Amino acid sequence: LNSKLPTVGTTIFTVMSKLAQEYKAINLSQGFPDYDVSPKLTEYVTEAMKNGHNQYAPMHGLAALRELVSEKIKLLYQADYDTETEITITAGGTQAIFTALAATINAGDEVIIFEPAYDCYAPVVKLFGGLVKPFELHGPDYEIDWEMVKKLFTSNTKMIIINSPHNPTGSILQQQDIEALIKLTKNTDILILSDEVYEHIIFDEAKHLSIALYPELRERSFIIASFGKLLHATGWKVGYCLAPAKLMLEFRKVHQFNVFSVNTPMQTGIANYLKNEDIYQEVGSFFQQKRDLFRSMISQTNFKLLPCKGSYFQSVSYSHISNEADADFAKRLVIDYGVAGIPISAFYTKNNEEKIIRFCFAKKQETLEKAVERLMKI
Ligand code: GLN
Repeated sequence: LNSKLPTVGTTIFTVMSKLAQEYKAINLSQGFPDYDVSPKLTEYVTEAMKNGHNQYAPMHGLAALRELVSEKIKLLYQADYDTETEITITAGGTQAIFTALAATINAGDEVIIFEPAYDCYAPVVKLFGGLVKPFELHGPDYEIDWEMVKKLFTSNTKMIIINSPHNPTGSILQQQDIEALIKLTKNTDILILSDEVYEHIIFDEAKHLSIALYPELRERSFIIASFGKLLHATGWKVGYCLAPAKLMLEFRKVHQFNVFSVNTPMQTGIANYLKNEDIYQEVGSFFQQKRDLFRSMISQTNFKLLPCKGSYFQSVSYSHISNEADADFAKRLVIDYGVAGIPISAFYTKNNEEKIIRFCFAKKQETLEKAVERLMKI
C-alpha cells in the first residue's frame, strides 16, 4: 500500500502513555486528569441511559446541548451563534479539527501553523493534499512576530491555525495578536481554525480572547471547544465546533459521514448537568491552584520553569542538566526516574534542538508530589 502519510508514526501521546504504563511511571505526559469527574455529572449521564436516551442523537447534536453552548457563548463572548445552523456537537476537539480541515482543505492549499503545535494539525492538512507552512516560535515566551508571519502569505494561503491557551507551551494570545491577525487577513478569504479547547483554563485574571469576540474574524472562523477539558472527562470525547452557517454547512457534510452523531447519553447528561450547575468560573481557579502548587514544587528541582499562562501543561527546560535530545531525555525520565512527560520536539515538523519537556498538571496533589519527589533526584 502506498501510504498517504509516509512520515507519520504513532502520536506521541500514545507512545508516552504506553511507555509510562510499561515502566509503571507516573504519567504526566498525555493530558488527562487522574481524578474522577463530579459524581453529579456521572449521575446525570447514568440517568440519561436509564431514561432511554440511548439511540442516535440528531446529526448536529442534541438541541438542549446546542442551546446551552449558544447561551454560554453569548454570556462569555457576547456573540450570537445560531443553535440550528452554527453549532455542531463533535466527538471531541480532535474530531472537530479533522472535520473542519477535511471540509475546507484542497490539494495545494497552504495552511499556516504555529509551532510547537498540537500534533494532529499537520498530518490532517497533508491528508487532504494541503501544504503545511510552519512558523516556528521559541521559548520562553513563544511570542508571535506577525510581521514575519506576513512573509508566509501567498495567493494559496487558505487557512491559519491558532491555539490559545496554547498546547504545549501554555502561552495565550493577547489583544495585540488578535489585532495583528485582523489586520493581516482583512479583505481576504483566509480561514481561521481557532483551537480553544483550553478556553476555561487561563490564569492570573487573564481573559480568554475567543475569536467569537471579533465579528471580522468570526465570519471566517471555525472555533473548536471541548467538554472533556471543562468537565475533567477527556475519555467521553465530547466537544463542539462553532462556525458561521456557510462554513458549518460544509463542516456537516463531512461530519455526517464521519461520526454521523455523538453519543446520546453523554450529550443528555452533560446538558442536564450544565443546566443545573454553574461551573465555568470554577475550572480556572481549580487549575490555577494545581499550576501554582506544581510550579512551586518544580522550582525546588534542577529543572527551569517556563511561563504558563493557560492550559494544564507546564513546560520545563533541562538544557543545563543534560545535552541529550529531548526524546531520549524523556525516555530516560520514564525508565530511570519513573516520570513521563512529552518531549517538545514532537510538536515541531522540523528537527528541534530545544531541551524542553511538557508535564501535565491535571493530576491529584499526591500524584504531583510523588512525581516531583522523583524529579528532585535529577
Ligand atoms: N490533548 C491531549 C494532550 O495534549 C491529548 C489528546 C490525545 O491524546 N489525543 O496531551
